[in-house]
Amino acid sequence: MGLYLAHPSSLEHDTGAHPENAARLRAIESTLDDAGWPGLERLEAPAATREQLRRVHTDQHIDAIEEFCAKGGGLIEIDTVASEGSFEAALHAAGGAASAAERLLAGEDGFAFCGLRPPGHHAEAARAMGFCLFNNVAVAAAHAVAEGGIERVLVVDWDVHHGNGTEAIFAASDRVLYASIHQWPLYPGTGSADYCGEGVGEGYTVNLPVSPGAGSDEFLSLVQNVVAPIARAFEPGLVAISAGYDAHRDDPLADCAVETEAYGEMAATIGGLASELEVPVLICLEGGYSRDALASSVLATIDALARGGDPRSAPIEPAEPHLERQRAHWPQI
Ligand SMILES: [Zn+2]
Repeated sequence: MGLYLAHPSSLEHDTGAHPENAARLRAIESTLDDAGWPGLERLEAPAATREQLRRVHTDQHIDAIEEFCAKGGGLIEIDTVASEGSFEAALHAAGGAASAAERLLAGEDGFAFCGLRPPGHHAEAARAMGFCLFNNVAVAAAHAVAEGGIERVLVVDWDVHHGNGTEAIFAASDRVLYASIHQWPLYPGTGSADYCGEGVGEGYTVNLPVSPGAGSDEFLSLVQNVVAPIARAFEPGLVAISAGYDAHRDDPLADCAVETEAYGEMAATIGGLASELEVPVLICLEGGYSRDALASSVLATIDALARGGDPRSAPIEPAEPHLERQRAHWPQI
C-alpha cells in the first residue's frame, strides 16, 4: 500500500497567473480519481512544527515568511509569489513530507506521495526562491535522520532544475546524499558536475547535469547506471525523490524531452532499488507546468511504485562521463 498526503491549504497558496498554481494539484487529483487512486490511502498532511523547520531553516526566515503572508503577500522575490494563505500551505507541505517520512519508517507502507504545494527544492536555509518557501524534502530528510531511527537518507532530484536549496542545506553532510539530474545551463545556475560537497560531505553531492534536449534514455540511464550503484554503496535508510515533472517533453519552462513512461521507469528503478535495500520511498512534488504531462507522469510514478514495476534497461553510454567522474568518490560503482 502507498500513502497520498494532501491538504486543503495547498489550494489556498494563491499565485494568480503564475505557472506554479493550484490547478496543478487539481489536475493530479482528477487523474488519480479517474484511475481509482491505485494502491493509495489518502491522508491529511499535518503542519510542520517549528522544531522540524528549524532543522533546515533559520528562525529569521520562518518569521519573515509568516509576516510577509500575514500582511497579504505579494512578490517575495523575482520568481516567487506568496498570498495570505501561503504560510499555512507551506507549513503543511513541509509537515506532510516530514510526517510521511516518519510514518514510512514506522510502518508497513512502501511509499508515500506528497501531493502538496508550494514546492521546496530551491528554498535555502534563509531564503525563499524559485516558487519555493520551505524546503519540504530537506525538512523530511532532516526529520528522518533526527527522529526516524536511521543514519542516512538518499535524495534523488529528477526535477529539470537543480535543487540549489537542498544541495546547500546538506553540502557539508555525509548523512544526506543529494543526487540531482538537471538541465544545464538553466535556472538557478548551480549544480555543476564538478561540485561534490564540502568537508565530511565531500562526495555526498552528486550533480548530474544534462544538455538541453536530453530525453528518457539520458535520465533513465543516469538513474540506473549512476544513482542506483551509488545508492547501493551509500546504504540509505530512506530514499526520497524530489519529483519535478518539468523535464517532460511537453513542459513549457525547460528544453528536455522525457516521456511520461520514463517517469514510471525511473520510479520503478528506484522502487526496485528501495526493495533491495528494504527501505521505503518518499516522493515530494516539485515542478511540472504542463498540467496533462504532470498528471499523467505522476500517475505513471505512483503506478510503478504500487506495482513494483519492471523498468526497461537504459543504455549505459549517456552515463559514462558522469560515472567516470563519480568514481573518484565511489570507486565501487
Ligand atoms: Zn523545476
